[in-house]
Amino acid sequence: MSYKLFIPGPVAVSDYIQRAMAQPMIGHRSPDFVALYRSMQPGLQALFGTSDPVYLSTSSAWGVMEGSIRNVVGRKVLTCMNGAFSDKWNDVASRCGVAAGALSFEWGQPVDPEAVRRELAGGAYDAITLIHNETSCGCMSDLGALMAVIREFPDVISIVDTVSSLSALPIPKDALGIDIMITGSQKALALPPGLSLLSVSARALRKAAASAGRGYYFDFAEFQRNHENGMTPSTPSLPHIYGLQARLANIEAEGVAVRHARHARLNRTVRDWGAARGFGLFPREGFGSVSLNCFANTQNVDLAALNRTLKAKHGLVIDGGYGKLKGKTFRISNMGDETDATIASLVASLDSALAETPRLPAS
Ligand SMILES: *Cc1c(COP(=O)(O)O)cnc(C)c1O
Repeated sequence: MSYKLFIPGPVAVSDYIQRAMAQPMIGHRSPDFVALYRSMQPGLQALFGTSDPVYLSTSSAWGVMEGSIRNVVGRKVLTCMNGAFSDKWNDVASRCGVAAGALSFEWGQPVDPEAVRRELAGGAYDAITLIHNETSCGCMSDLGALMAVIREFPDVISIVDTVSSLSALPIPKDALGIDIMITGSQKALALPPGLSLLSVSARALRKAAASAGRGYYFDFAEFQRNHENGMTPSTPSLPHIYGLQARLANIEAEGVAVRHARHARLNRTVRDWGAARGFGLFPREGFGSVSLNCFANTQNVDLAALNRTLKAKHGLVIDGGYGKLKGKTFRISNMGDETDATIASLVASLDSALAETPRLPAS
């Protein structure tokens, strides 16, 4: 059975990426690997907007999200929470045995820079976690405004998750002053799940070097030492690295500004479609994501039935709501290689499937 994913991760992987991933294996300590690894750094650094190295970790994003906590949190981390992933980061920090303060907002509300300033001004924190684009509720916080506040506190290491936003819009790491920037493979970069990418500032590396509990697999010092030799600490998922190489070539060929404009345009197409059908966005006005739309299910559409029809008759799947928003919202991704044509076809399918989907009684 084959169908196309329009859920916000994992997203559809194009044939040219799959072909690139099928290349023969090479030794991960061979000169060929070193050449491959080094050849990708300039493209990765351009994508991250940084002169720091970009490490490749064979893990999903959570590996390095947890790893960051273990590497750089000394006294206490402030976790900014406004959706499922950012809420979980607080729990993950606690499970690492680290003191974690919660700065919570309703799901769909952006992280408020003034609230961040108030919390950090207390002086208790030496690190902060932030999710730029809360995929669970389609809410994109104002990273520029947040980083401007965080930069006022030079002792605080910033850990920023850009899993579902990096490459969909500009996120200049160095200009924003981000210490640790993390992304995953299966969202905005539209590769299969299993790889994560992170870039770490020199001062965060220094902090890590002094941290006792950083372990081995996600040890930043190991990443850096191996990076200097053009390698990863342990055997990486070579197919992912081939896929990433193809993605970087694709971004360069399209032009990054054209890519960003395409995501903005396709996102608007889907958003306008929803608005015309009476579905407003779930997140606060002005903070909707550019890589997905999370609509409020204001018409009590039977989302399970809708997805059955979409899958059986149109060969595609959308998301029926994450966690506590299941049934109450639906999410549609426009990440990766979607085009005007694929999105036009998607909305036509949605119209057709919606016409035959029952509405549930109001609860
Ligand atoms: C998907 C996602 C994650 C978690 O990624 P895994 O690949 O499951 O580890 C973290 N943050 C955000 C914003 C995400 O969308």
